[in-house]
Amino acid sequence: MVLYEHRFVTKFPVEYCSANSTKVYQGTTGQLMRVAIVGSGPSGFYAAQALFDSNVEVDVAMYERLPAPFGLVRYGVAPDHAKIKNVTKVYEKIAAHDRFSFFGNVTVSKEISIAELQTYHDAVILASGAETDKKLGIEGEDLPGSYTATEFVAWYNGHPDYQNGFFDLSGDVAVVVGQGNVATDVCRILCKTADELKSTDITERALGVLAESKIVEVHMIGRRGPVQAAFTPSEIREFGGLDDCTPIVDPEDLSNLRPECQNELSNKQRRQILEVLEKFSHLNPMQLQKKRRFVMHFLKSPVCLRGDEKVQSVVLEHNVLSGKSGEQKAKGTGEMQELPCGAFFRSIGYRGVPIQGVPFDEQSGTIPNKKGRVLDSGKIVPGLYTVGWIKRGPFGIIGTNKPDSVETVRNLLSDIGDLCPCPVPDDNVLKGLLKDRGVDVIDYKVWQMIDAAEIAKGKALGKPREKFIERGTMLAAVGE
Ligand code: NAP
Repeated sequence: MVLYEHRFVTKFPVEYCSANSTKVYQGTTGQLMRVAIVGSGPSGFYAAQALFDSNVEVDVAMYERLPAPFGLVRYGVAPDHAKIKNVTKVYEKIAAHDRFSFFGNVTVSKEISIAELQTYHDAVILASGAETDKKLGIEGEDLPGSYTATEFVAWYNGHPDYQNGFFDLSGDVAVVVGQGNVATDVCRILCKTADELKSTDITERALGVLAESKIVEVHMIGRRGPVQAAFTPSEIREFGGLDDCTPIVDPEDLSNLRPECQNELSNKQRRQILEVLEKFSHLNPMQLQKKRRFVMHFLKSPVCLRGDEKVQSVVLEHNVLSGKSGEQKAKGTGEMQELPCGAFFRSIGYRGVPIQGVPFDEQSGTIPNKKGRVLDSGKIVPGLYTVGWIKRGPFGIIGTNKPDSVETVRNLLSDIGDLCPCPVPDDNVLKGLLKDRGVDVIDYKVWQMIDAAEIAKGKALGKPREKFIERGTMLAAVGE
C-alpha cells in the first residue's frame, strides 16, 4: 500500500480529499493514473465519467473494435427510438474531457492483447457488452429463414459486421420468439410501414428491404403469461399507434389468471402492461382494416422448426404456469400447434462472448467478478475490472449501467494503492505499436468527422443521419 502512495496525482490538495483517498493519494508529484476501457457502449462511458468525477487525475483510453463509438446505443437501440439515442450527447461530453482518448477500429485480443493493455495502463476495465444471443436448442433452429434478433437488429442499424445478412420477408407470416423489449423492437420494425421508418436513422439498405416486405402477420410468442411478459408498458403501448397494423390479443389469455398471477399484479408496471393488453383485446381488426396484424401469443414454446430447404412452420407447445408468485415457470402440456411462417426470429436474450486472456463463465456468459473486480477461480485478478452486461448479464436499460459502472470504479479507486504501476506509461509507444501492426486507429476527432459526414448524408434524405455501413467507406469518407 505504502509503496504506491505518491504515484497518482489528486485533483485537490490533500485536505479536500476524503478520509480514504487522503490515505492513498498523498502528494501531487506522482504520475497520472492510466486506465484502459475496452468497449465504448454506455457502461464504458459511464465508467469513464465515474473516473473523471473522482478525486484522481486519470487518463482514460477507450478501445473500440469499430471505428464508431457508442456500442448498443448506435447499433442496438431501434432507429425509431430517437429520444433514447439522445443519450449520446452525455457521452460526447465525457469524450470531450481533455484526458480522454479514443482508440477506435482496434480489436482488443486480436490487434492488442489484454496483457499488453496492462503493460500500458494501471488498470483495465472490460466493457465489451453481450455481443451474441442465446440459442433455443430446438430442431430446425439453423434452417434458412431462421434468424436471430441480434443479427436483424445489427443489420437494420447499419453495423458493419452484419451487412451480409439476408432476411427473407417474402412470405406473409413472421414469428418472433421472446417477449422482451428487443422482441418488441423486432416486431415493431416488421410491422411499421416504410413511411413510418423513412425519417429515422435506419439504413437506406434496410429501409429498401422492409419496404418490399410481404409480411402481413407478425406473431410474438411468449412462453409464460401476459403478467410475466418482459417488455415494458411504453414499448408494448406503441403497437396501438401504428399506421397500418392492428395489435391482436385473445381476451381468453387475460381471463382466469391464477392467484399467483393476481399477486404479481401488485407490481404497477405489470398492471400497466395488462391494461394495454386489455385494450388491444377489444380491437376489431376487420373494422380497422389495417394491412398488418401483430398477434400476441402467451403460454407457448417453440419445440421445432419445420421446412425442407427453409423454414415453413414452427411447432408450438402449449404451456401452463407452475410455481410461486414471482417465480412462476412455464411447463409444457403436450398440446401442440403448428404455425406456418416464412421467417422466424429468436429474441430470447443476449449473451456475452469470452475475451482472450480474461476469465469467463460459460454458463452465464459473463466475466466472473465481485462487484466489478474480475475473479479467476474465486481470486481477484489485480488491475482487471468489468462493467455493464459482460459484468452482470444482459439485463437492464441504458441507465442501469450508470450505478453499475460507478460501483466498479469505486472499487478500482479503493484498490489504487495495490495496483501495480504500468511498466510503459506512454501512449505514443502504444500508438506506434498499433501502427506497426497495420491498425488504422480512429481517434475521437476522426470519429467526429465521420459523424458529421453521416449527418450531412442523412440531411439530404430527411433523416437524422445515414450511417456508413462498411468500415471501408467510413474511413474513406474522412480520407484515411
Ligand atoms: P429479456 O428482457 O431478458 O427478454 C427475453 C425474453 O425471452 C423473455 O420474454 C423470456 O421469457 C424469453 N425467453 C428466454 N429464454 C427463452 C426460451 N428458451 N424459450 C422461449 N422464450 C425464452 O431480453 P431482451 O429483450 O434481449 O432485452 C435485454 C435487455 O435490454 C432488457 O433489460 C431490456 O429491457 C433492454 N432493452 C430495453 C429497450 C428499451 O428500453 N426500449 C429496448 C431493447 C432492450 P421469460 O421471461 O419466461 O424468461
